[in-house]
Amino acid sequence: MTSFLKIAVDGTSASGKGTLARRLAQQFHLSYLDTGALYRAVAKHILDQGGNPDNEDDALKSAIFVRDHFSWEMLEDPAIRTDIVADATSRSSQFPPLREALIEFQKNFASHPPHKPSQKPWSGTILDGRDIGTIICPRADVKFYCDASTETRAQRRTKELQEKGLNANLETVLQEMIERDTRDQNRTKNPLKPAEDAIILDTTSLSADEVFEKACDIIRSKIA
Ligand code: C5P
Repeated sequence: MTSFLKIAVDGTSASGKGTLARRLAQQFHLSYLDTGALYRAVAKHILDQGGNPDNEDDALKSAIFVRDHFSWEMLEDPAIRTDIVADATSRSSQFPPLREALIEFQKNFASHPPHKPSQKPWSGTILDGRDIGTIICPRADVKFYCDASTETRAQRRTKELQEKGLNANLETVLQEMIERDTRDQNRTKNPLKPAEDAIILDTTSLSADEVFEKACDIIRSKIA
């Protein structure tokens, strides 16, 4: 175990991976990258340009744009969280050239996270996404793979959207979630799957606090 901790968190949508990764980042003072937001920023750029998320050339152009003009604001833009962008993301992110264009950026972040002047140096990095444990950080110190039943995930996502004041209906969310998961798991380039050495966290009947405590125990036992 090195003193610079690398943690990979993968999983299906609304499995709780983002919440877990953010809390672990705070707990262990790790620099955090939500790679889903990166892919979403690319999809939003495709749509903003009047492009087609099912077109490989449009997807590649936007990936190069986001990579070369990257800013943290892009990942914090609430507009990347809409259903339309989510759907466009799962379509465009299946293109190998788009993924290739973003791989070095993510690997670089994992090894050399940007320093924030007001903060003490990071103790490590944590990335969440779909291919972190398999492709981006294959040698991560700890790999988690979060999952939950599709119904539970759809209920969580519906509640989350409604709390944001967005119009969401369980049946539509469930249907879209199944479609996105199927695309993520079946794409040819870097599909969503647990790394062989990933620790599976089934969050179906666990609260966010329980998932967090469990993950902290696992990390502490690895660091010890
Ligand atoms: O995690 P989130 O739901 O924000 O991800 C949105 C979409 O981005 C996923 O459905 C997936 O298609 C894509 N994605 C990906 N690889 C990652 C992270 C996200 O293909 N590492």
